[in-house]
Amino acid sequence: MLIVMHHNAQRPEIRKVVKAVEALGFTAKVMPGAARTAIGVIGNQGWVDETPFADLPGILQIIHVTKPYKLVSRDFHPRDTVVRIKKGLSVGGRNPFLMIAGPCAIEGRDQIMKTARMLKKLGIPVLRGGAYKPRTSPHSFQGMREEGIELLAEVRAATGIATVTEVMSPEHVGFVAKNVDILQIGARNMQNFDLLKEVGRTRSPVILKRGLSASVEEWIASAEYIMVGGNPNIILCERGIRTFETATRNTSDLAIIPLVKDITHLPVIFDPSHATGHRPLVAPMSQAAVVVGAHGLMIEVHPDPERAASDGPQSLNFKEFRALNKKLKTLIEFTGAKTR
Ligand code: PEP
Ligand code: MN
Repeated sequence: MLIVMHHNAQRPEIRKVVKAVEALGFTAKVMPGAARTAIGVIGNQGWVDETPFADLPGILQIIHVTKPYKLVSRDFHPRDTVVRIKKGLSVGGRNPFLMIAGPCAIEGRDQIMKTARMLKKLGIPVLRGGAYKPRTSPHSFQGMREEGIELLAEVRAATGIATVTEVMSPEHVGFVAKNVDILQIGARNMQNFDLLKEVGRTRSPVILKRGLSASVEEWIASAEYIMVGGNPNIILCERGIRTFETATRNTSDLAIIPLVKDITHLPVIFDPSHATGHRPLVAPMSQAAVVVGAHGLMIEVHPDPERAASDGPQSLNFKEFRALNKKLKTLIEFTGAKTR
């Protein structure tokens, strides 16, 4: 439930509403706005009776929220959330466009270090690299797991680049959060509720990918799980959805970027690699994502895509990535956003 106060409501009136909310056993979240203050009711599991508020002065309107999410919605938090990754590096709001790049999977020290150094030279602030890999077949490369996380920590210490990696199981969250800057929840785990809860207990930035066939509402409700747990540092990532179309690996759903920016206050980025599955489509779809207002991109890059252990056909080589990065800078600035 959301209680919207009159524009001229004073502090004592707001306090009375907060007290009435608390008397019902719920938490009141006071959200001052430019024109009027709103008070969000948190902790209720169903319909909240309006009777205790009927005679309170200063209330303009009571809105019952029937959606499966609240805290991540703009109704509850009108201003853009800024997720701080580390000192001097944030995403969301008016912060510079966030570029993330790196291999699908960490394959060894040489491969990941080479990639980090190339990115560093270009001023790309975040390196991606999968250590725990969610593979369709158990016969495919499963990732370097703990050893991969240790390599990421090594690369971070050597180059200063921030890192992101996928975490698949609640037991690994603590170890991964200690060693990398951003946790990634992959498409296949978007509704792994125990994992969402565990990540919600940390304060690590989290990239939450959209599920393979998840509706926008399901995706946002998953973000709500993380936020309810106490972790507000969520970055949503559109990576294409499964449709009847097989010409591309997934169907890029770019329309939901402006849509989700409207209904939530969270930063939204795009992954053109998994969204298309084909190297030649990565550049045009990256450009399209910039134009529709994404806060950033996560792109798969490999020193030798032909020999990549996973997702080679959608990975750019260094030369292709450099060219794309250059092109994107001009486009990002053209849209009025900042680059690093
Ligand atoms: C990945 O980022 O390598 C990955 C497995 O992505 P997704 O979860 O979007 O399929
Ligand atoms: Mn991949």
